[in-house]
Amino acid sequence: MNKYGGRVHTRFPPEPNGYLHIGHAKSICLNFGTAEEFEGLCNLRFDDTNPAKEETEFVESIKEDVRWLGFTWEDRLFYASDYFDQLYEFAVQLIKQGKAYVCDLTAEEIREYRGTLTEPGKESPYRNRSIEENLDLFTRMKNGEFPDGAKVLRAKIDMASPNLNMRDPIIYRIMHEHHHRTGDKWCIYPMYDFAHPLSDAIENITHSICTLEFEDHRPLYDWFVDNLITGDKPRQYEFARLNLTNTITSKRKLRRLVEEGYVQGWDDPRMPTLAGYRRRGYTPESIHDFCNRIGVAKANSTVDIALLEHCLREDLNLKAPRVMAVLDPLKVVITNYPEGQIEKLEAENNPQDPEAGYRQVTFSRTLFIEREDFMENPPKKYFRLSPGKEVRLKHAYIIKCEHVVKDEEGRIIEIQCTYDPDTKSGGPAAGRKVKGTLHWVSEAEALDAEVRLYDYLFMDDESQDNQDSEDELEDGFEDELNQNNEEDDDFLSKLNPHSLKILKNCKVEPLLQDALPGSKFQFLRQGYFCADLKDHSPQTPVFNRIVGLRDSWAKAKRNS
Ligand code: ATP
Ligand code: MG
Repeated sequence: MNKYGGRVHTRFPPEPNGYLHIGHAKSICLNFGTAEEFEGLCNLRFDDTNPAKEETEFVESIKEDVRWLGFTWEDRLFYASDYFDQLYEFAVQLIKQGKAYVCDLTAEEIREYRGTLTEPGKESPYRNRSIEENLDLFTRMKNGEFPDGAKVLRAKIDMASPNLNMRDPIIYRIMHEHHHRTGDKWCIYPMYDFAHPLSDAIENITHSICTLEFEDHRPLYDWFVDNLITGDKPRQYEFARLNLTNTITSKRKLRRLVEEGYVQGWDDPRMPTLAGYRRRGYTPESIHDFCNRIGVAKANSTVDIALLEHCLREDLNLKAPRVMAVLDPLKVVITNYPEGQIEKLEAENNPQDPEAGYRQVTFSRTLFIEREDFMENPPKKYFRLSPGKEVRLKHAYIIKCEHVVKDEEGRIIEIQCTYDPDTKSGGPAAGRKVKGTLHWVSEAEALDAEVRLYDYLFMDDESQDNQDSEDELEDGFEDELNQNNEEDDDFLSKLNPHSLKILKNCKVEPLLQDALPGSKFQFLRQGYFCADLKDHSPQTPVFNRIVGLRDSWAKAKRNS
């Protein structure tokens, strides 16, 4: 039984200034998951206190992403901006308690007066204004009598506190900005540190779960709650944010990638946004599994992206039907197979799923195999096709390479083979063993498709920048002074120039023509692929590679 009589009520509080990323997924799983576990509730609350950076597009995308992860807020969708009236009243109450004052120092002066970690701050000359004067000035701030930055409302706490957050923090600032929900009603906006705990309290939140950067803000969180709230008080709990190798989890940087055209949008399949992962072909189940495995820690660390991919493969392995797709086709002619003849062969849809059944694939005299599955002068232990050697064609016959046909430039354009009619499934020599098995598609039925191969957007994990979150805390008022974008360009130099490779002439099994956008397959020997949510259609089949088959995480586990 906890101090709320066993009640657990959490919230997920995104700021609608970008799309959600994989770090947010961890927070969503934690907040909604904790509520589920304790039969409690979890709210979705948009933290929309900074009108300058927020947009409706982001609100909609965030809702879609939370739903995609399988969580529901039922009727508990809230906006911090819904509480602007109430927050204003809270501020007035603080003034009346003598615990807040209007300060005329400039932003720069406020920073100077604040002191440092080793030096105490200095009190503002406006700190001892009378309650009446503060009430009057604050009302006039609200009424729009002063320009941006002319005055702020500050909490009156302790300029000598060892915790900088307690040195008379700003709680309201003047911003003549249009707000996506409240329009032009307000020209003063509350700071995050003030709005957040009080929004929690208004919603009767019990556990306010946030990332570690906010640990030093907890005394301030408590100060607002203790001074303004009677009855059940929300409490803040911190956990480590998720950092992933090869991945940026900063909305500000992701936004730059989109705005400056380094990617094709927030849902570009290379983006670590949930919209990007969805379009790439990730499943919500794999993201849940990943979040469960990394657990909740109190210390920041970086998780290997191979673990996320491992969770994804485990899920897709069970679900994804197998098909054959040749990404870089090389023509093969079976010279002893009758011209014009075709034959239907049975192919297992998914060896991991007994329910998945069988389909038929068409064999014919002309086929395609993968160009890289043939070598004219192979090294030892090359078990694919080469002159005079045999391989099995999956679900079909053993073939033998008899002759190589080249064009004038010496480029291989065709392989001529013979097949052994006894070696198909059920045939007298079905059990004959050869070392290599290749995937293939017959020319008779091949469907042309575009395939997009993705690699990491960033080449290594140095692109991680844990300081980010600190920068973001200083939003709003401070932000206007610290235009800190230039020094940030470093992460752009880590962009992988080969993160997208488009293959236009792939030959795939014809059933893929009817694939619904978003449906997932294993292309034998090539990896998992997903029909693109935006660009795939029966007329123009387009498949994204979700992930390859080689599982470096599982391998590392086996070897350790
Ligand atoms: P970003 O740095 O990406 O802008 P943010 O914290 O500013 O993140 P919010 O929209 O405020 O973005 O985040 C909503 C919630 O998600 C917050 O409670 C925040 O703590 C959590 N969150 C954000 N990033 C991560 C992360 N990398 N790992 C875990 N939780 C995160
Ligand atoms: Mg934030």
